[in-house]
Amino acid sequence: MQAAKRLDPRPAPISAVVSSAKTPFVIELRLRGKALSAAQQATLKAAADRVAALIVSRFQPVKLDLPANSCDKGLPALREQLDHFVVFVTVKDLGDEIYGDSSPCELHDKTYLPIYGTVDLNSRGLDDLAQPELLDTMIHELLHALGVGTLWTADERVSLSGDSDDKTLVRKVGKQWYYTGARALAAYRALGGSAQGILLDPDQGHWSGNVVCSEILSGSAGDVTDRVNPVSPLTLGALEDLGYSVNTKLADRYALPKGRCPLD
Ligand SMILES: [Zn+2]
Repeated sequence: MQAAKRLDPRPAPISAVVSSAKTPFVIELRLRGKALSAAQQATLKAAADRVAALIVSRFQPVKLDLPANSCDKGLPALREQLDHFVVFVTVKDLGDEIYGDSSPCELHDKTYLPIYGTVDLNSRGLDDLAQPELLDTMIHELLHALGVGTLWTADERVSLSGDSDDKTLVRKVGKQWYYTGARALAAYRALGGSAQGILLDPDQGHWSGNVVCSEILSGSAGDVTDRVNPVSPLTLGALEDLGYSVNTKLADRYALPKGRCPLD
């Protein structure tokens, strides 16, 4: 018997979730890939609201004329004026190890802030994630899409028209990387941190969990997975170091660990 000819799958229509926090900064999530439940979409919106509320500066409108696959394979062409920050959220199989992945895409000229970004959520196990875990993951990935932990070195900072600045927010001392941006470093010292910089994971994109424990941007050894980790003044400071204006009142209460990171 002849196998039926398979029809080309039609691209799924894009549905969007738009933040509605009381701030001039708006984050639009354009959802792609495997469909999310209404509850999952509500959690993603809560994450967008949480992150958007932190930022009080305005997005600089920009006209884009980009072909498909510009920033990531599978993304559509982007031929429109963006008046707010857009994130393509794709639910797909990312293997066994991770919850999600993310990246800023094109950067504004002059400010070097991201124009849009991508977040991939792992379809494996996504439906098993408790609401706080998905919320925590999405806040974390949105911060990366906005440049936190992803635009800290000069070679990552190339704007839409190809300019680059020399801004570097990390420094290697011996074999270890430290974050050295002034605002986050001041917040770290205000909490009693005393090193020359904030110790980072070797990927240079997350606080070392042994030093900055169970924070929203903590990396290995510092992530608690059954709740939403706090967005501390350190991460607010990191947003400021990138050039965003922030609402410091919205930082969560946070204390640096004394001794080892207690993961309970
Ligand atoms: Zn991360």
